[in-house]
Amino acid sequence: MAAKTILEVKDLKTWFYTRRGIVKAVNGVSFTLDEGECLCLVGESGCGKSVTALSILRLFDSPPGKIVEGKVLYEGLDLTTCAMPLLRSIRGKDIAMVFQNAQSALNPVFTIGDQIEEQINTHMPHHDRNSRQKATALLEEMKIPEAAEALKMYPHQMSGGMKQRAMIAMGLSCDPRILIADEPTTAVDVTIRAQIIYILQELKARRNMSIIFITHDLSLVREIGDRAAVVYAGKVVEIAPVEHILNKPAHPYTIGLISCLPDISADLKRLPSIPGNTPNPIDIPSGCPFHPRCPSVMDICRTVEPEMLNISGVQIAACHLYDANVTGKR
Ligand code: SF4
Repeated sequence: MAAKTILEVKDLKTWFYTRRGIVKAVNGVSFTLDEGECLCLVGESGCGKSVTALSILRLFDSPPGKIVEGKVLYEGLDLTTCAMPLLRSIRGKDIAMVFQNAQSALNPVFTIGDQIEEQINTHMPHHDRNSRQKATALLEEMKIPEAAEALKMYPHQMSGGMKQRAMIAMGLSCDPRILIADEPTTAVDVTIRAQIIYILQELKARRNMSIIFITHDLSLVREIGDRAAVVYAGKVVEIAPVEHILNKPAHPYTIGLISCLPDISADLKRLPSIPGNTPNPIDIPSGCPFHPRCPSVMDICRTVEPEMLNISGVQIAACHLYDANVTGKR
């Protein structure tokens, strides 16, 4: 039986109105997330992954930010327009977020225990009496040694890895159905990184939790993702099961990203890279936003924006190379 879709992001646009111009950080993102699925949002820094995640829960500063178009449907409810009290009751409880920098996301003047318990008591008042017990169990689940003692620590008393795991514990404290993890392993060493990935895989399987995992690291996508959505210039340009993205990428940008994966067996003088830079979100190129960097660019790419095209049933990409009307191939 097909899994149920739990979240649907439809043509979402989040723009920031600044003195220098309109920053189109998210410029038409669409994807779905199924129950128990891990969808990875992949792309270079500045492509709009994190703002997409923040937009789901309306967690960006407004002004200057504004959702100018699109929908975020959670069980049919549009989170972009629902009343703020209702959205607040969903944040943390139904959909939780783990931020990339635990050091700045945790409150330095409260202990870890207080911060986790506050979350539990806000959303699950019936847990009031045993919130400390639940907080201890969460830190144990995160493999933090001497969990009861760790709850009494302030963030500055913890190592980077402990803080990141405490953040994940806080995210999981109200048993959310969806966890948005924004580069949760960026600031930790490889051993802690492996532990965090293992914990997330295990939680996903045990709780049937859905995960949106944001990363620029394709090796992590291989480890944790079911599907991956490749984001460029504030748009999803390719979406497919992870094995398709890694083994049969369709979009030239995805192909470029894969070719940049380091290969220790290759005798290379320098690591490959995609020429050029990600576009300035104030001044996104016309037509296909990837055209100034694309090795397969055609005339039409400079003026006409490609639509998402079905490549192989489960793989969709926005590229004129797959449009039979452009290439003449059937
Ligand atoms: Fe390259 Fe054109 Fe495809 Fe864009 S539409 S990725 S420029 S071939």
